[in-house]
Amino acid sequence: MERPLPLCDRMERKMEENTARDVETGSEAGAEDALVGNVNKLIVTPPGYSGAPRKGHLLFDACFESGNLGRVDYISEFEFDLFIRPDTCNPRFRVWFNFTVENVRETQRVIFNVVNFSKTKSLYRDGMSPVVKSTSRPKWQRLPAKNVYYYRSPDHRRNYVMSFAFCFDREDEVYQFAYCYPYTYSRLQHYLNSLERRNLPFLQREQLGLSVQQRRLDLLTITNMDHLSPKVKKLVFLTARVHPGESPASFICQGVIDFLVSQHPVAQILRDHVIFKIVPMLNPDGVYLGNYRCSLMGFDLNRHWQDPSPWAHPTLHAVKQLIVQMNQDPRVNLEFYIDVHAHSTMLNGFMYGNVFEDEERVQRQAVFPRLLCQNASDFSFSNTSFNKDLVKAGTGRRFLGGLLDDSSYCYTLEVSFYSYMTAGSTAPVPYTEETYTKLGRNVARTFLDYYKLNNHIKDNRPTHIQSAEGISADRRQ
Ligand SMILES: [Zn+2]
Repeated sequence: MERPLPLCDRMERKMEENTARDVETGSEAGAEDALVGNVNKLIVTPPGYSGAPRKGHLLFDACFESGNLGRVDYISEFEFDLFIRPDTCNPRFRVWFNFTVENVRETQRVIFNVVNFSKTKSLYRDGMSPVVKSTSRPKWQRLPAKNVYYYRSPDHRRNYVMSFAFCFDREDEVYQFAYCYPYTYSRLQHYLNSLERRNLPFLQREQLGLSVQQRRLDLLTITNMDHLSPKVKKLVFLTARVHPGESPASFICQGVIDFLVSQHPVAQILRDHVIFKIVPMLNPDGVYLGNYRCSLMGFDLNRHWQDPSPWAHPTLHAVKQLIVQMNQDPRVNLEFYIDVHAHSTMLNGFMYGNVFEDEERVQRQAVFPRLLCQNASDFSFSNTSFNKDLVKAGTGRRFLGGLLDDSSYCYTLEVSFYSYMTAGSTAPVPYTEETYTKLGRNVARTFLDYYKLNNHIKDNRPTHIQSAEGISADRRQ
């Protein structure tokens, strides 16, 4: 049979090994690809030790969805070097980690050193810490910042190392540590399935395509189908998780969706006047595999918008095709494209936009971020910037900014992996799953201000939406 895909050799070998192991353990179909290169129920015993493992000989595992841990070195009874598994087929990216530890002794204290980050600049310098949960405490928490150290290590060829101290407190628990709150492909599927079961008349879920490993590329359309002709409606297109390790983007995206399908009066008005198209997970394979930046085949999909291939970048290809099609359709009024990301060195939520020659367009583009800044105390307009770096040329924002006409706006919405400062705060406030979701709700309701639909809340007669130009002109400062 012809080979369908040119996977890199190392990966194919791994996949064969893992498939063989799956047969023995009888794990469910599809699980094999999560195992690529991850430690699999690895018990780390002292060098030279040959007896049966004892309590306190830690058992590491990352063979689960979105798991990532490539190697563990025993340094001492109390200290372990941990190696992030690089993105599949792309060794350049090593940031996301997500693994479990069990077989611990009560009150066992350890130091874990994550020794092979591919980035040197990191929010760990500013107080960020990994998240942790355990069997009886299933809600993720951030570790206390005082237990986390980020430094150039003389023991690791002067690499930047993040070390954290942890004290296990319950013997029979499984502890899980991660770079940030995980949001897996399965979690999204459960969420979308539960939305579908509600049979909401204004929500449609489609499979826009499949990933290389045949995972669903979901597209949601949220709008009141009965209200106004589609011609009059503006269309807002939102995508998330092109970068799989940027899990906060999924919480934001879910916040947007939750708000838009709610009974909130603002949501009802928005559904009457706007069509929302949302692709919640643009890179489902990368998310499933526990990659940070790339797809299964090692592509940073956010650098391939100019010429995506239907077989190497099928999800991106499908989304681009849809947007190009809509852009050519005179019945569609595509006005916003927002791609949601998470940022590893900045605080707050903020946006990137494009640079235009036309000063008036530049001003109009600043309107939405300004309004969002008024609605979301964690969103910073001063961190928002407009650029045309060459390196960003293949991104969705840049590519679509060039494609769509000059009444459309393309943004990247970024949110810190760590925290935000508000006007009144003296110290950074770490983001939680809930505050990420809240930012999403605020993004959704900002469209009401943008389209000046506020009067509809009290007086719900269908009226014509003003053109964006007319609105933005008097918003300008
Ligand atoms: Zn990103």
